[in-house]
Parts: sequence; C-alpha cells; structure tokens
Amino acid sequence: MSDSYDVVVIGGGPAGYPCAIRAAQLGLSVACIDGWLNRDGNHAFGGTCLNAGCIPSKALLESSELYHRTQHEFATHGINVGKASFDLGQMQKRKNDISGQLTGGIRTLFKANGVEGLEGTGSLAGNGKVRFQPLKGEARELSAKHIVVATGSSPVELKKVAPFDGDRVCDSWDALDFDKVPKKLGIIGAGVIGVELGSVWSRLGSEVTILEAMPEFLPAVDAQVSKDALRQFGKQGLDIKLNAKVTGAKVLKTKVTVTYEQKDESHNLDVDKLIVAVGRGPNTDGLGAEAAGLKLDERGFVVVDEHYRTNLDNVYAVGDVIGGQMLAHKGIEEGVVLAEQLAGHKGAAVNYNAVPCVIYTSPEIAWVGLSEKQAKEAGYEVKVGQAPFAANGRAKALEMTSGLVRVVSDAATDRILGVHMSGPYVSELLAEAVLALEYGATTEDVALTMHSHPTLSETFHEAILSVDGLAIHAVNKKRNK
Ligand code: NAD
Repeated sequence: MSDSYDVVVIGGGPAGYPCAIRAAQLGLSVACIDGWLNRDGNHAFGGTCLNAGCIPSKALLESSELYHRTQHEFATHGINVGKASFDLGQMQKRKNDISGQLTGGIRTLFKANGVEGLEGTGSLAGNGKVRFQPLKGEARELSAKHIVVATGSSPVELKKVAPFDGDRVCDSWDALDFDKVPKKLGIIGAGVIGVELGSVWSRLGSEVTILEAMPEFLPAVDAQVSKDALRQFGKQGLDIKLNAKVTGAKVLKTKVTVTYEQKDESHNLDVDKLIVAVGRGPNTDGLGAEAAGLKLDERGFVVVDEHYRTNLDNVYAVGDVIGGQMLAHKGIEEGVVLAEQLAGHKGAAVNYNAVPCVIYTSPEIAWVGLSEKQAKEAGYEVKVGQAPFAANGRAKALEMTSGLVRVVSDAATDRILGVHMSGPYVSELLAEAVLALEYGATTEDVALTMHSHPTLSETFHEAILSVDGLAIHAVNKKRNK
C-alpha cells in the first residue's frame, strides 16, 4: 500500500466521499479517511447524512406518516383496517437496515472507482502530510499533493442551558434511536430538525412542544408558505411556541423540567425527553487546525475562497465545515466541483443561487431562490403568482390537498427569482423549479411548457400562470400588468 496520493480527503460524508470518487474518476490517486463509528461500535462511511441524519430520519418520517395515514385517511378511501398499531422495534430495524445498505454501498463505490477507503482519523501534519490514525493499530503519515478537509458538523450543544446527557437531554442522533415513544417530548428549536423529529414522534403518539426563540417560524421560507405550514402543524397537534426563550432544563429522575420565557413571563414545561435542535457547528476538533495554522472564522468554520482553498497551500475544505447552508447536496456539489478543479477543470463552480431546500414534514416544505420578502429587500420589483393544491385533481386523488406554490419573478425581465411551496411531494416537484433557476428561465418559459394531467406539477404551472393573472384552475387574485 503506497502512502502517497494525489488527493487525501479527510471525512467520508456527503462532501468527502463524492469528492474522492470524482477525483478518482478523473484519474487522480485518492484516499478517503473517515472515523465515523455507529452506536454498535462499527465503522461506516457516509457521515451524519447516511448514519444519523437525512437517511434515517426520512425512514422514520415515512413509517410514522404511513401509520398516521392508516389511522386518519384510510377510512376516507373506504379502506377499513380496524385499529392500527405499530412495532417501533421493526421501524427502527428497517431504518438501520436502510442506512446500512447505503453506507455499505459507499465501500462498493470506492472499490469500483479505485478510492482507498481508510477507517480512522486524519489530521493535518504540515507540508502536504496527513497523519492517519487507524481505528486499530499504529498511526502513519500519508503524503498528498492536495488535502481536502470535509469533516462535517455536529449538533450545537446548549452547554449552560440544557447540556446533552444522551438520555433525557438528546441531540438529533439520540432522537432517531428512541426505543420507546416519549409520552411528552420537548424540542428546543423549530428549525428543520425540530419540525421533522417533532413530526415523527407526534405521529407515533408523543405530545410534542417545540420552543423557538425567534418570533418568526421558518424565516427563510416565503411568509405565506410558512404561515400555512404552521397552521397545518398546529392541526396535527404540534405545539410550536414562538418567542420562547429557554432559560434552563433540570434533569430529574423521571422527567426534565424545562424553563422558558415568553412575553416576559417564565413558564415550566415537564417532558420525558428533551431534544436540542438549535443548529450545527463545524467539526474541527482533532484536525490539528491550530498546530497547522489553518484559518478558522470566529464561529470555528474553515475559511475558504471561491475555489475552496484554505490559507494553507494545497489544503482545501468543502461541506458543512466551511459553513453556509448545511445541506448534504450542497456538500456533494462542492466536493465534486473541487475534485474537478483539482483535476484541472478550472471552470467548475457551484451555483449558490439555485440550492434546493426541503423539509420532509407533512405537508412537505420546499424552496429554491428568493422569497418575495428577500427579493424586495434585494431591490427587485417583483411579480408574484400562487396556486393551491386544493384545486389539483391528483392532490385530491391522493387525499393530500393542503399547501400551495408561490412563484416570485423579476417584473423587469420576467426571470424566475424563487419558488417556495408546501404540499404533497413538493420535495420532488422542487427539481423543476431548481432547473428553471439554473437555466435562468422566465415565467413565460415555464408557462409554455406542457405539464402532464393530472399531476401535482400542474400546481407549479398554475402558480407560474398566475404571475400574469392567467391561471386557469385557480382564481387569480389580480392581474399583474
Ligand atoms: P436550524 O438552523 O434549521 O434551526 C434551529 C432553530 O433553533 C432556529 O429556528 C433557531 O432560531 C432556534 N434556536 C436557536 N437557539 C435557540 C434557543 N436557545 N432556544 C430556542 N430556539 C433556538 O438548525 P437545525 O434544525 O438544528 O438543523 C441543523 C442543520 O441541519 C440545518 O442547517 C439544516 O438545514 C440541516 N438539516 C437539513 C435537513 C433537510 O434538508 N431536510 C434536515 C435536518 C437538518
């Protein structure tokens, strides 16, 4: 085994492993070091996304959603199943199996592409060297023409207010592994993780209270879409308290007492489990950043330029560890683009104006580009269109009619600036909107594009048509001149 590579990638999550694979596809010799250990003590590539985030959470969201629909929608379809019940152990097993299949797939892909997957930790050792400490055995030094830091992120801990104890005060990984449905569940933070995990456990029977410090719910999302989603979540029994600042959490033998302030009043909330979901911070511990002189910003993220170059020669960084939107697909794109740049494709770049965002609740929430508010703040004169799923035949057949699509366009050029939506499978519908933004499409381009009938995509088409007051199946509020 040679210890000299063109590229050594530290981190085998969504930013690191695609970077390693693409670099190898382009003819470079590559090693990818990863030290993720699952709860069973076994190593797995794939990072948070595959082991403790995107994939396991989607598995549980799907199972809990099916259970919920069985109870609440089947009778409307004329299907009687009697009293539904669920087996949490089987749900968890299915979730773990899915993660295992996908993480195992990365090993296969490494082999097929000639990437050397190294299990252990990597740190910067200066002068184009990486110190590799295998999970078992002696450390050794690897040399690399290019070193890529893709070490990801971890949940932020509220050390003073509600420190993690892995039992009653949990992070998002713990909360995917509950072996019992908590009767009362508290969540700090009504962000993406808060509402996704809140949905899972609420559908399985928890009484869920989410405490959000900010006055606005999902501020990055179009105001009407987030308002609609908040109403739907309320109907589902998620108690989302805005402007609620948590001041303490006392862990007792059988419960956690959470103290929070809302409208200058102090409140107590007793819960069986408390999930802290207040964002994620960069993983740089153990990287040897300080000794190597790697520049971090004031929040600890690795500082890079537009080509993902750090302040150290031939050391690059991609994914969550450089900050920005902490999304697996943003990391994948950065990793792939960097690999292409390292292989000499200088034009490769990520389009940060067309990053899709999805929240996998029911209704799902998905958006790309600017909301109406953001577009106005950016100085655009905007035209806005919208259409509800309530008028969509396919949505009716699916018994999933809540939600809407809103389109924001530039009045001067007709170019689409953003599409924000909530509703059935909008996670999938979003791809068309992302493509529209990527291609710089106008609303006229999409208006002239035929959409199959009956499909959910017609609601996007109707929202586009309504920008000029020309929707056929939705009442046009006004004709934008
Ligand atoms: P987030 O930034 O989405 O939300 C955190 C929320 O916590 C914010 O609304 C914030 O105002 C609130 N908050 C912060 N401090 C608080 C306090 N002391 N008390 C009460 N509320 C407080 O972060 P997250 O939900 O933890 O997710 C972490 C990252 O992971 C995000 O970048 C997210 O995009 C990503 N993620 C994405 C997906 C997805 O794409 N579907 C799923 C899970 C996570």
